[in-house]
Amino acid sequence: MKDTVKKSKYQTFIGLEVHIHLITESKVFCGCKNVFGSEPNTNVCPVCMGYPGVLPSLNEEAVRKAYQVAMALNCHLNEKAVFERKNYFYPDMPKNYQISQFEFPFGIDGSFDLELMDGSTRKIRIHDVHLEEDAGKMIHEGSRSKLDYNRAGTPLLEIVTEPDLASGEEAEAFVQQFRQMVRYLGVTDGNMEEGSLRCDANVSINEHGKGLGTKTECKNLNSSRFVKKALEYEIKRHTKVLSSGDEIIQETRLWDEGSSRTSSMRTKESSNDYRYFPEPDLPPYWPEEKFLDEIKNSLVELPGAKKERIINQYGINQQLVVFLTSEKAMAEFFEEVVKLGKGDKGITTTVASWLGGNVQKILNDNGLEIESSPLSPKRLLSILNMIETDKISSGIGKKVLGLVFEKNSDPEEIVKELGLDEGPNDDEIVKIVSDIVDTNPKVADAVRAGEDKQIGFLMGQVMKATSGKANPGKTQKLIREKILKQG
Ligand code: ADP
Ligand code: ZN
Ligand code: MG
Repeated sequence: MKDTVKKSKYQTFIGLEVHIHLITESKVFCGCKNVFGSEPNTNVCPVCMGYPGVLPSLNEEAVRKAYQVAMALNCHLNEKAVFERKNYFYPDMPKNYQISQFEFPFGIDGSFDLELMDGSTRKIRIHDVHLEEDAGKMIHEGSRSKLDYNRAGTPLLEIVTEPDLASGEEAEAFVQQFRQMVRYLGVTDGNMEEGSLRCDANVSINEHGKGLGTKTECKNLNSSRFVKKALEYEIKRHTKVLSSGDEIIQETRLWDEGSSRTSSMRTKESSNDYRYFPEPDLPPYWPEEKFLDEIKNSLVELPGAKKERIINQYGINQQLVVFLTSEKAMAEFFEEVVKLGKGDKGITTTVASWLGGNVQKILNDNGLEIESSPLSPKRLLSILNMIETDKISSGIGKKVLGLVFEKNSDPEEIVKELGLDEGPNDDEIVKIVSDIVDTNPKVADAVRAGEDKQIGFLMGQVMKATSGKANPGKTQKLIREKILKQG
């Protein structure tokens, strides 16, 4: 069949502005606590409340984390970084300006290797990485609005991409992969629901070869799926407008998840309106070489590199590696089990598939993270060893895993305590198999007639009768012998 999908007349350009909340003890320019979920207006002081006559002082931990991200994004680090005031009025910003960076941010001209659906990668250019302070939070209740300034002055890192993304799907992938990277770095928890990672999505379309079009911006998207949906909506809208000969108005729009559409919020201000000027209360920041070297040397292995190394080192299939490297803690857990198990090839695949299967399911069901769960690398290894040495079946192993989570005790202890390793002896199994085949003559006939799958039913009955303790290989052999003997 011929390709019936008509290639769009338009080319799409998307640039993202991603904001991440940095994990620090205190806010970026004062000593107030930087935590989520406190009683409203309890983490505030004259500095973050914008009282007159106070002086900001820069939090070095926030700077360190900003550089980590800038380095991970292969940015050029400005020799001199400058904080500037971005002036605007809004009740959630008590100072009426936000301290940010404009002309000389910490990092510029970086790149991010975006992994595409077909497995290839494409470089997405990073315009800049800059540090700023977050605003407070407005809570609207009917006709009243309340203000909580706990968030005002918390460190926010903004990463601005060039308009190199070409579809809603690519933008979604960027947000997901970028989130994974900054979680690896440990600079943010990246929790989109709590607003620790927020995204503004800019999009324009234009006829092929004509360069950028007039853009619109969708503000404050707090899920990667919304990024995709909002952009796809906007691309359709732009296409319709331009196809009918009208023009796109450059503006800021809001995504409404309920109605699955965007609506105009305000016609877009330009940076002139903010009247940026250097913050007079903070000197320009000249990073010391030693400080930067130390940060560079402590950078962790990033997801892409880790994935490639694990594939090469352990020969595990792509799908499992994607799972293992989704979180740094999971990859580390895997490597620890393999190390403890002396790393023979057999065990690496078993460990990986247990983590991706049974373990992952229990973690999901209980809303747990591997690093804070009752399962340790040593405990998982001992379950796998008991299975490997036929002390328990893999079915029992799964049960033991569940009990490790329930009781938070060692697998050997659980097995001993519940007598899970005392399977039936050979004579007992022969007897059980014989009884089960006898009470299911039709199934036995079917197996004899070549319906080999039916043997699974008999296996199941034996396992039930022995609480899963019968050795599966031996049981199947005995069932076959018994059926053939009858035939
Ligand atoms: P503004 O001055 O409106 O904030 P910037 O030039 O700072 O615009 O860019 C903000 C974001 O918008 C960046 O991510 C950039 O890649 C993206 N962007 C800029 N112009 C366009 C365009 N014409 N089409 C799509 N995205 C764009
Ligand atoms: Zn404060
Ligand atoms: Mg801008």
